[in-house]
Amino acid sequence: MRKRLKDNRAIVALFFLSLCSGWLFISPLWAQESVAHHVLSFPERQNQYVHVTLNLPVDGEVVELAMPSWTPGSYVIRDFAAQLERIRAIDSKGRPAEIEKVAKNRWRIQTGGSSSLTIDYDIWAGELHVSSSWVERDFALINGAGVFLFSDDSLEWPQRIELELPAEWQNVFTSLPAEQLPNGFLASDYDELIDSPIVAGEARSYPFSVDGQGYVLVNVGETDFWDGQKAVEDLSRLVREQQEFWEVNPFDRDYLFFNFLLIFKGGLEHDNSTVMMSNRWLMRDRLEYIKWLALASHEFFHAWNVRRMRPQALAEYDYEKEVYTHELWLAEGLSSYYDNLLLFRAGLVSVNEYLDIMGTEFRNYETVPGRQIDSVETASFDSWIKHYVPDANSVNSTVSYYRRGALIGFVTDAAIRRETGDEFSLDDVMRQMYQQYGPQGEGRGSYPPGAFEEIVEAIAGPEVRSMVQRLLRTSEDPDIDAALDWYGLRLDRFPGRTAAALADLPMPAGFGMSWNVENAQLIIDQVVKGATAADAGVIPGDELLAINGQRALPGTIEDILKRLRPGDQVQLTLARHGQLMNLGVEVQNGIPENFIITVNPNISRAEKTRLQNWLGRPLNFIE
Ligand SMILES: [Zn+2]
Repeated sequence: MRKRLKDNRAIVALFFLSLCSGWLFISPLWAQESVAHHVLSFPERQNQYVHVTLNLPVDGEVVELAMPSWTPGSYVIRDFAAQLERIRAIDSKGRPAEIEKVAKNRWRIQTGGSSSLTIDYDIWAGELHVSSSWVERDFALINGAGVFLFSDDSLEWPQRIELELPAEWQNVFTSLPAEQLPNGFLASDYDELIDSPIVAGEARSYPFSVDGQGYVLVNVGETDFWDGQKAVEDLSRLVREQQEFWEVNPFDRDYLFFNFLLIFKGGLEHDNSTVMMSNRWLMRDRLEYIKWLALASHEFFHAWNVRRMRPQALAEYDYEKEVYTHELWLAEGLSSYYDNLLLFRAGLVSVNEYLDIMGTEFRNYETVPGRQIDSVETASFDSWIKHYVPDANSVNSTVSYYRRGALIGFVTDAAIRRETGDEFSLDDVMRQMYQQYGPQGEGRGSYPPGAFEEIVEAIAGPEVRSMVQRLLRTSEDPDIDAALDWYGLRLDRFPGRTAAALADLPMPAGFGMSWNVENAQLIIDQVVKGATAADAGVIPGDELLAINGQRALPGTIEDILKRLRPGDQVQLTLARHGQLMNLGVEVQNGIPENFIITVNPNISRAEKTRLQNWLGRPLNFIE
């Protein structure tokens, strides 16, 4: 929607013009004039406010300021403007300027002919999330999209940040280059400002370097249960593995891992940093720790895949409305495929741990009926109304482009290896994509629709390409069993606890529904379409009271289910809108709990070689 001066020809022309006309000495002054200057202070941090003063050069009678409605990497409208309060403006002579709100996120200001305006406002920073800002007594996380205003002109200008910090706050961390001011930083334009989270206040940092590249792990909320030494050692192996994978170091500065050890909220990627939110006890639980490593792996992989090589639709952000792309399966799904695989290649998880993770991923995919409704391309396009805003029927109505995208990555990888006699792989496709569409390639950081399929065809032939196209555009399941088989692996889908299945115990029973415990009540949250509960008319929100007259409570329901057998007819007693009701339901098999991947006992020599090539490490365990 806006004209952006990102065109390289324009920049070259400007440079040429400056040389010809002797402007070379003047242009820095001109550039200096058009700088947006944002000052952040925290006088009301106890109430979770950040105060912002923006000094902005202006031109003309009116200027419109806007707040982004979403932030890149998190494809949902968040309407950050809702947290902005008490906006005022004065002109360069100190006279109040008139402000009129003209859209949910836009303010029109009368300049009175002034050459600059000073606008100040407060942001309530009380949503602890990787996309939002958070301020409390001891620290602040600033995510720019919900804090900094822009005008159509200022998007291209350098953005100066100045932080006025409480005396007790000793630390500031951001990937932005420092400027002379105390706690001053400079972003080259608004995009970089928004892409550079800032953490100030109480935090513990662990700088480390791998092959000459600097990294910093910045922990907020660290306790004695965190082992900094181990985290740095493991991250070092991870970043080395990924740098070797891509064969190009994209960073011109230190990369920061912002690691909030407070509550699990996932992660968000940036050019030179990531914000991750996890549980503070994670180092005391191996599975939780592996999940944290996988999160770091995923976000770091994004430094290449999506930050520096992204779908064309995201090449330039329109911060005010949805930006649609069919390719989040590539940006997110393939990052999800590699996040765990590279953990194994880096030696951070054992082969059994890796196969278990894959089994769980397959299970989580196959137990979702919505996979028969949506393709990954549709799911990507609809992320704004589906993935980020799930409802009680999501399980039936859509598929995760992360999950199916990762599976498509897995079968595509196997297909390329098979078709090329194990000479090439998906790794080569990713590297070729980066070469062509990364910052140095013809795509200048973005790829057109179909670019991935074209490279797949160039490397592995038209058949693999048409398989990929089918998997992207239809709801066909990726054939994971065939791909596993090619590596000499097999997948067993156990309907219940593995031990029970192996010991030939009765199949665990269920109705195809799940519930939450709320105030000691069993509240149905998901009903799987096609299962017996759904057919009998159970709907999300029903409270389950009894099964065949037997009171069902959080402590007893598992016991009742254990005694039921598939095929039994029972009565469910439910409360809906405060009214009791009985529904007759047939008991069915429980939703499969365990998908276990094992090495085929008769694995051939050729399969061993393929498996080893794919996993990328010697596999002595097979011998
Ligand atoms: Zn991601």
